[in-house]
Amino acid sequence: MTSTATDVITTDVIIFGAGASGLFCAMTAATRGRRVTLVDHARATGRKVRVAGGGKCNFTNLEMHARHYVGGNPHFPKSALARFSPWDMVSLVSEHDIAWEEREHGQLFCLRSADDVADMLEARCRAAGCRFLLSQRIAGVEHDGDAFTVAIAPAQAAAADGDDTTQGGTPRGSTDASGKATRLRAASLVVATGSQAWPQIGATDIGHRIARQFGHKVTPPRPVLVPLVMDSQWPLHGLAGIALPARVVTGGAAFTLPLLFTHRGISGPATLQASCYWHPGAPVEIDFLPGENLEELLRAPEHGKLLARTLLGRLLPDRLAERLLLPEIENRKIAELSKAARAALHAAVHAHAAVPAGTEGMRKAEAAAGGVSVEHVSSRSMESALRPGLFFTGEVLDVTGQLGGYNLHWAWASGKAAGEVA
Ligand SMILES: Cc1cc2nc3c(=O)[nH]c(=O)nc-3n(C[C@H](O)[C@H](O)[C@H](O)COP(=O)(O)OP(=O)(O)OC[C@H]3O[C@@H](n4cnc5c(N)ncnc54)[C@H](O)[C@@H]3O)c2cc1C
Repeated sequence: MTSTATDVITTDVIIFGAGASGLFCAMTAATRGRRVTLVDHARATGRKVRVAGGGKCNFTNLEMHARHYVGGNPHFPKSALARFSPWDMVSLVSEHDIAWEEREHGQLFCLRSADDVADMLEARCRAAGCRFLLSQRIAGVEHDGDAFTVAIAPAQAAAADGDDTTQGGTPRGSTDASGKATRLRAASLVVATGSQAWPQIGATDIGHRIARQFGHKVTPPRPVLVPLVMDSQWPLHGLAGIALPARVVTGGAAFTLPLLFTHRGISGPATLQASCYWHPGAPVEIDFLPGENLEELLRAPEHGKLLARTLLGRLLPDRLAERLLLPEIENRKIAELSKAARAALHAAVHAHAAVPAGTEGMRKAEAAAGGVSVEHVSSRSMESALRPGLFFTGEVLDVTGQLGGYNLHWAWASGKAAGEVA
């Protein structure tokens, strides 16, 4: 890297965002001998990596496949995923003696701390010669036909702590309060600034604004991996804290996993997964007894003398069972129930339908679906077809993984794909 009297730092690759994919991209490019400069408004690298998986970082999944991703083009993730497998990530963490464990559904977590993964990536970047410009605000980006010029300035303390000071349009200024600014120049610019999910740790939409500046479409972002909120008329309010296995169906996808009632609606893995496929106004159907057939149980002769609420109370948490029973049948013996009453009870338990009022929003979302449309982005290199030398990696793109380590793995795989050519 060279710095001239006019404070223009010339480098090979500028990376916006020292998060999961920015670090991986930097490590890959620097290992090829490229001079890499990372710019981030946070004081520390990899803030989302450090909070991921409840601090244990679900860093990959052994059941890696493009079907675990949503986005405008379901084929887009295939190329990068094929060239960076979960076992490649396992090799990397193992090389650094980071202890990990497999949990259900193929999820791999750190045993000690998510910091181990972020620290390892940062250390590898530094060892390969990457330069980190942290607590820096991106004040403007331009391309003059040859290279990108980027203006940066010290971020205000609030931004370094997480607040975004750059919201509201790509800023054009290039000075901080004291008039001091730095300009960077490079032929390659990688935008790895993630999504707006969890703004409380510095997530912003700057990547989308930069994409639009260079002519890319942005699919409107929406919070996913997020609890769903029910309106005040929902008959199952008041069950907060109850958890049970359930099948949640919406938008053509179905997940049989634990479900949790919250004060405002539903959460738990079944809901979080389903939220990736839910769109405002769409219904959600819940089966509270997946794998059972209540109608058959109601027809079974040995249950005929039981009260309906006794049978349901044996199958479901008491308070939920009470809510699902119509008052007129709860104290009736099962043998006395009409065919219609049995069918209604079956439907209440196996096909509870509701239209959520919304989600808990970006502040509670582990990811945002939508983002930079992949229409004009190479699935092999993540390079823009509209502006050669411009790359987008990780969650800023319209590629979103289900719960289970898929988002971090996408960040690694797409960061690596860009780092191989940037
Ligand atoms: C609470 C939580 C838990 C999660 N747990 C998991 C998990 O266990 N497994 C999993 O696979 N995924 C998990 N995820 C999702 C995963 O962390 C993200 O998908 C992944 O970090 C995205 O990588 P990225 O590099 O695209 O973006 P990030 O890792 O978010 O990196 C973006 C970087 O850009 C910087 N930046 C943003 N805006 C600006 C700006 N205006 N100026 C300068 N810099 C900027 C940020 O400071 C950040 O360093 C979790 C997410 C959350 C919020």
